[in-house]
Amino acid sequence: MTGVAGEGPDGAGYAGHDTTIESKNCESIIMTTQETIGVFDKYVIANYGRLPRVMVKGEGCWLWDVDGKKILDMFPGWAVSGIGHCHPKVVEAVRQQVGELIHIDNTFYCEPQGRLAQLLSERAFGGKVFFCNSGAEANEGALKLARLHTAKEKYKFITAEGSFHGRTFATVTATAQPKYHEGFLPLLPGFSYIPFNDVAALERAFSDEVAAVMVEPIQGEGGINVATAEFLGAIRQLCDQHGALMILDEVQTGVGRTGKWFGFQHFDVQPDIITMAKALGGGVAIGAMMATEEVAASLVPGKHASTFGGNNLACAAGVATIEAIEEGNLLQQAIEVGQYTQDKLRALKDKHPIIDHVRGIGLMIGIQLTRPGAEIVSQCLERGLRINCTHDTVIRFMPPMIATTDLIDQAIEIFDSVLSGS
Ligand SMILES: *Cc1c(COP(=O)(O)O)cnc(C)c1O
Repeated sequence: MTGVAGEGPDGAGYAGHDTTIESKNCESIIMTTQETIGVFDKYVIANYGRLPRVMVKGEGCWLWDVDGKKILDMFPGWAVSGIGHCHPKVVEAVRQQVGELIHIDNTFYCEPQGRLAQLLSERAFGGKVFFCNSGAEANEGALKLARLHTAKEKYKFITAEGSFHGRTFATVTATAQPKYHEGFLPLLPGFSYIPFNDVAALERAFSDEVAAVMVEPIQGEGGINVATAEFLGAIRQLCDQHGALMILDEVQTGVGRTGKWFGFQHFDVQPDIITMAKALGGGVAIGAMMATEEVAASLVPGKHASTFGGNNLACAAGVATIEAIEEGNLLQQAIEVGQYTQDKLRALKDKHPIIDHVRGIGLMIGIQLTRPGAEIVSQCLERGLRINCTHDTVIRFMPPMIATTDLIDQAIEIFDSVLSGS
């Protein structure tokens, strides 16, 4: 095991549960928690429900707040820090790239963008890549490409209830959850929604006017709902039959979290387009859309673009992320540690009737509760464990791929004690 998962900033390990941070790491920290919150209250738009903690440092599975409290992070960066916080390979690559060229616009070529596209293509289905800066943008690009590529009369999209595809107008329309639509009606025309994994509903919704179907292989924000092979197979078959495209939103499932590079690789299906973002940059903002060569050919100059898309810094971070996963054999680790985590969580079920069941693949794990879980999440944080609750009653455990069984044990011990109310 490298030093990332289990050792502190000074490399001394966490056995002593040292909760201080080296002063050299907080030279720039001049404000207390209350002062920082005060600045936010005055100057930052209050569109997030934030917890009253100011985070200043991350390393591997660990996070520190400004008061020096150490937190075991089992939901790092909302699935962005998939190989943990500040992975040394990413830090090194970013440092080096920053000293050479941070950004060059797409008027020119740049090596990191081509290199990252090649690495992704070789690990997916040999497609071509368009780069952007977020998940919503990647999906936006996929929807636009589907319109461009399919015939003119095709303008309809089918997505699944419980999905999450982003917050732009097209992607929030694609997101088939009413709570995200409130206040924004009328939405983009042409979208229809079917229950996730419902093949009969999919068949009923299909027509020759459909440009694409877009779903997540495992719904993330919707509560860790795993697609069935039948559902994905039916999408493929109906898309082929009607000349529509199959888009898989891999923004949360992609880049290794499930133990394969992409979620679709757990199923015997090949999509026309996949999108990714979150974990792709090892913490640096980046998004990407990959399409088969034939579909990609429809995206000609003038049809779509992103000023920051594919910049040197983000792509260098992406290359380093993929190399870190490969060098650390982290896909295998995600499978093994994921199984270990799921087994241990399932073992808690008898003891805690609030646990209905555990589901997921690899390190994308949901714990279905019988009642809302927000309170459990905040109690865990009080005891030094960060997890998440989505869809009201689903606890998300999404450890980074570097997590060791030892750290999982520590996390589950805290979770167990909170459920016990002790
Ligand atoms: C997070 C997420 C998005 C949106 O990504 P942003 O980077 O926030 O725009 C889209 N799809 C899925 C599946 C996601 O989990």
